[in-house]
Amino acid sequence: MAELKQCRRCRKTLHIDHFVDSSGLRNPRGHYCQLCHLKRLDERHRAALKRELITIKKLRIIYGKHWRHYAAPEFFHASLHDERDFCPYCGTWFDEITPGTFNNSLLHLDHMDPLDKGGENSIRNVVVCCGPCNIRKGKRLFLDWLAMLEPKYRKLARAIYRHKHGHPPEGFIEGHSTKRGWPYLELTLYKPVAELQKLFPKPVVAVPSRKRPPASTAKRNKTGAGRANKS
Ligand SMILES: [Zn+2]
Ligand SMILES: [Zn+2]
Repeated sequence: MAELKQCRRCRKTLHIDHFVDSSGLRNPRGHYCQLCHLKRLDERHRAALKRELITIKKLRIIYGKHWRHYAAPEFFHASLHDERDFCPYCGTWFDEITPGTFNNSLLHLDHMDPLDKGGENSIRNVVVCCGPCNIRKGKRLFLDWLAMLEPKYRKLARAIYRHKHGHPPEGFIEGHSTKRGWPYLELTLYKPVAELQKLFPKPVVAVPSRKRPPASTAKRNKTGAGRANKS
């Protein structure tokens, strides 16, 4: 008798072996059966994606076609997790790190161009990767990090970078450390779309200003320097 309990979601009375904790691991003290746990994760993920779509709509009102530069990764976990289900740097499957979890702290958001060296704090510059890779990468420039990867993942990571940034990693202009935080983002999240449309009949910004590379790194970035000095 003591071996049975009721699932909070499906209300079925099941053997305690069917119960899992919030990370999906078998645990007789968990509130939900394994199936309900997976359904809950899926529901939460879909709800998060829906919220993120609304955030995109709001960012578009304020920033126009350049909204991606202003899309702070912290507000796009679900979309970023949907990009792939394995680490782009080493190939580890995310569900092998933690079973069936979304938004788990063992997965890291990596800024491909490090914030410390002027990388953008936006979804353009962020991928989900495994913790060990993120820690190994540290504050390295993306090109230096690529050199440390297995050829297969070097090729993949370079392609992902190119796809997300719209230019190869050689085009990155190293600069001063990027501050987190966005002047309008709080606003975009809490005001309804209709109100934002009234407040911002036209987008407020153009592209983020191009950074001039410090003299010491000018040589490394010679391919992108010509374009950068124009501003
Ligand atoms: Zn259940
Ligand atoms: Zn990895």
